[in-house]
Amino acid sequence: MTAMNTYFAADYTAAREKFLSAAAEAGLAVISHPHPLQGPKGEGLALDLVTLCPDSTAPCRTKRVFVALSATHGIEGFAGSAAQVAWLKRKLWKKVPAGMSVLLLHAVNPHGVAWLRRVTEDNVDLNRNFADFGKPLPRKPAYDELAEAICPRIWTNESIADAQARLDDFAERHGRSALNRAIMGGQYSHPDGVFFGGHKPSWSRETMMKILDSYCSEAKHVAILDFHTGLGEFGAGVSYCVGDEGSASVTKAHDVWGEDVTIMSAAPGSGVHDGYNLTGMARLMAHTAVYGNTLEFGTYPTADMLRALRADNWLHLNGELASPQAQAIKSELKRMFYPEASEDWKARVLSRALAVWERGIAGLAAV
Ligand SMILES: [Zn+2]
Repeated sequence: MTAMNTYFAADYTAAREKFLSAAAEAGLAVISHPHPLQGPKGEGLALDLVTLCPDSTAPCRTKRVFVALSATHGIEGFAGSAAQVAWLKRKLWKKVPAGMSVLLLHAVNPHGVAWLRRVTEDNVDLNRNFADFGKPLPRKPAYDELAEAICPRIWTNESIADAQARLDDFAERHGRSALNRAIMGGQYSHPDGVFFGGHKPSWSRETMMKILDSYCSEAKHVAILDFHTGLGEFGAGVSYCVGDEGSASVTKAHDVWGEDVTIMSAAPGSGVHDGYNLTGMARLMAHTAVYGNTLEFGTYPTADMLRALRADNWLHLNGELASPQAQAIKSELKRMFYPEASEDWKARVLSRALAVWERGIAGLAAV
């Protein structure tokens, strides 16, 4: 066993075991929220919550709450899970300032981790699912135009090449970044497509909000660190704060997270995708200032990642999960979001994740 394997797991069950045993070692209680479905081997699934409340009452009644989420995008959860395990095992919880609570939400999309999918059980992208469903949902004509090329019904070399030609044609007319935005910007019209935001709050959103509502009811300041993988340079971790202009999450972002957090506007047309989880949480927790941080660790080129995601979408809709083709698609998808063979990637992820986490706790204490 290599050093990094103490923290990084190979599958959902192992990740959960590492998390539960690290919590037990730290003497911290776990509250498990069982998911209604099972994993591919019939294993039970849950969102596991560890709380560090200074007054030992549950739920916490502190003015400041720090939250760390893993697996918003299921298969991306191995990095966040490792950071949570390391934070517990390295006893970093002992350094939490008085009067602050910390919540660790492990595998907020457990179905996605177990089935090695980015989406939830209902094919929903949890980070597009925090739309305000009481209002008309955003329309995405570019996605609609390309829907059949993004997710062809047949997945062979020939059909992939045909689809690619249509996508390339769009990129030639509108630019490559317009194409990426069309695919990844979040859509609400194709439940069988990719980056689908859903038509209602998913199990994961509802379960997370129940936890946050209960534990943050007295909070004035809540910092939320959400781990992702996929976009960016291999092993580099980039911090984003997405928020409405003038909101506390934006005006205090540097105070809480440090100078290297990139602030992005959540306004329509800003290029940020719809249904953003952390801005949705800020909207739903209007009584408190919410400081969100999306920490994304790079892996491989975006075009390769998108192709792997489209293949996985095809597999779950039209393919055969027990086939050799399915194994190839799954292992490629896992590699794209979790380069587990690279000790260097894991070490860099862990070191940056814990540094951002530590900075966030210090910043939250001072804000
Ligand atoms: Zn992600």
